Amino acid sequence: MERDIVLRLDRATAEDLYAVLYELGEHVAAGAPVTPMTAEEAERLGHVLQDLDHSLGRKCNPYCDHLE
Ligand SMILES: [Zn+2]
Repeated sequence: MERDIVLRLDRATAEDLYAVLYELGEHVAAGAPVTPMTAEEAERLGHVLQDLDHSLGRKCNPYCDHLE
């Protein structure tokens, strides 16, 4: 049985993730514009992607040595 993936996010990252998913949904559904992210938002969301890659058993980059 595949194990579930659990993400633990600080509040700022959770807000960023909510906003980007909401805006993507509105963009796909109705062509609403997507707000460019700040450098801080991009950095926080980049860490989410990296953590998600590792949780899914994927390397976050070709040289990744974060996996156990
Ligand atoms: Zn990695």
